[in-house]
Amino acid sequence: SVPEESVAAAAGEVVFRSKLPDIEIPNEQTLQSYCFAKMGEVGSRPCIIDGMTGVSYTYAEVETLSRRAAAGLRRMGVGKGDVVMNLLRNCPEFAFSFLGAARLGAATTTANPFYTPHEIHRQAEAAGAKLIVTEACAVDKVLEFAKEKGLQVVTVDGKRDGCVEFSEVIGGDELPEAEEAGIHPDDVVALPYSSGTTGLPKGVMLTHRSLITSVAQQVDGENPNLYFSKEDVLLCLLPLFHIYSLNSVLLAGLRAGSAMVIMKKFDIGALVELVRAHGITVAPFVPPIVVEIAKSPKVTADDLASIRMVMSGAAPMGKDIQDAFMAKIPNAVLGQGYGMTEAGPVLAMCLAFAKEPFTVKSGSCGTVVRNAGLKIVDPDTGASLGRNQPGEICISGEQIMKGYLNDPESTKNTIDKEGWLHTGDIGFVDDDDEIFIVDRLKEIIKYKGFQVAPAELEALLITHPDIKDAAVVGVKDDLCGEVPVAFIKRIEGSEITENEIKQFVSKEVVFYKRINKVYFTDSIPKNPSGKILRKDLRARLAAGIHQ
Ligand code: AMP
Repeated sequence: SVPEESVAAAAGEVVFRSKLPDIEIPNEQTLQSYCFAKMGEVGSRPCIIDGMTGVSYTYAEVETLSRRAAAGLRRMGVGKGDVVMNLLRNCPEFAFSFLGAARLGAATTTANPFYTPHEIHRQAEAAGAKLIVTEACAVDKVLEFAKEKGLQVVTVDGKRDGCVEFSEVIGGDELPEAEEAGIHPDDVVALPYSSGTTGLPKGVMLTHRSLITSVAQQVDGENPNLYFSKEDVLLCLLPLFHIYSLNSVLLAGLRAGSAMVIMKKFDIGALVELVRAHGITVAPFVPPIVVEIAKSPKVTADDLASIRMVMSGAAPMGKDIQDAFMAKIPNAVLGQGYGMTEAGPVLAMCLAFAKEPFTVKSGSCGTVVRNAGLKIVDPDTGASLGRNQPGEICISGEQIMKGYLNDPESTKNTIDKEGWLHTGDIGFVDDDDEIFIVDRLKEIIKYKGFQVAPAELEALLITHPDIKDAAVVGVKDDLCGEVPVAFIKRIEGSEITENEIKQFVSKEVVFYKRINKVYFTDSIPKNPSGKILRKDLRARLAAGIHQ
């Protein structure tokens, strides 16, 4: 059905819409039936190729394996409304498990296998995970916790005591019907964690309806933003535990009938080999990877000749990098996308992805996707702003999250009564409908596209007996985009050093959340209700005041 305008524009509101006409989005079904809808056409075509082993699965095989995964997960007690945690680097089993759980009406919460035990346990517990699918590099971090909490553990790369092998999960003879009964389009299917505009990471409830809508906004209809086709070979290098890759690569690729080459970890030599061996045509990246390729003498234009499109998202990309990269890959179109986990995640994309590119200005992250509304509001007054006026970017449509898991208060603070999701990003829409992100209202720090939540680091820092108070902000970094730095107020008499604080944090968090620099201070600026005034801290840094 063509969705009703989900948000009625109030008088005087300026709502920006896509240049492309709305389409019919078949979002009254389950995600897996939507993704495999073209099975008759693509059944015998390659679907998932394991870049490590070269093993290739056709569409029909992936469908069967996801049905077997559903049967196996059900044997292990997973059912509708349950949560499975995928604690995995990219591998074919990630897809089989995700699609299998979806088929049962269960949701998958995704997490980085390099998280520390503390980070993993916190998410598994908050999400209410019943079963963890993981691999050798992470299994030791979950075993004890799983035993204590009665969770089952599945490993994808070899037998381990106390675990079930994934090959056993998909090994049964039982092949359940293509579709489980009783799954509602508004049931949660993916539960990634994001801190959103403030506070600690929260479970983002993305439903069958939201993900179908988001994928359709990208690849369905006459004039899609992304012209993925059956002939395309997509590089699946960005981590599938981040919604950008899960949605815009795996799910969009499945829907379009493309082949996907799965790469476990970034290595420039291996990347070039995979591009050459499989004739990769579409390469979704994040800006730091674009920088590395642009700078690497190991990569020549010849190496990348098969690529017709490079997508970049998750963080801003400057014009210099764009130009350097395009010099290496002159035959490809390069487009930025703008996403936020809570937004489903894609808000905007460059129409430069199109076959006949519109000119998109450098620095723009595209125009709003179809079947959605975008508005810019004054963060102080809430008034809707017109073109070329910077304000908070808000988005509406059926692709946005249902809300945060078990957190109605944070949900209410993010999605307003009229259904607008407030992104915490500051941007404007220009005369050509292009969106420019100019600043961030929210506190989140982005390290190479990964989220770092200051509140999480602050909560950890103040558990140290020598630390009286702490505040964390991001500072710009050429290589990583941004890195976290901490302002620390020591307890009286303490002589704790910068290094000791850094080491204390390093033990508890994944590498990209590590503190880059510590500044000792006598006061952390706060407003009367105790909220840290990060703007003041950023201003101190800009003025070279480090106390
Ligand atoms: P995440 O939920 O981890 O995808 O992070 C979402 C946030 O990343 C957005 O709200 C933006 O602050 C930032 N972001 C994503 N895409 C872009 C982009 N193309 N340019 C600038 N910032 C971006």
